[in-house]
Amino acid sequence: MADEIDQGNETAEFFLDLALRKQQQQDVSTPKGIGMCLSCETDIDDDRRWCDAACRDDYQKAQWQAKQIARCDDDEEY
Ligand SMILES: [Zn+2]
Repeated sequence: MADEIDQGNETAEFFLDLALRKQQQQDVSTPKGIGMCLSCETDIDDDRRWCDAACRDDYQKAQWQAKQIARCDDDEEY
């Protein structure tokens, strides 16, 4: 009986873990790092998102520009 419950929990944990991993791969806006710099893709050991401030600035600048471009595209539809 107890074994069955343990197995169920392990399965749930497995799928939760899988879902979290999938989300981390797709969502770059995650507040936690994904093991590599979001700007230059250098491996990072801790949970930082960028290897240094320059990469963070580059990334945020690119995000901002992408937003501006998306906004321009919206305007053109009117
Ligand atoms: Zn970097």
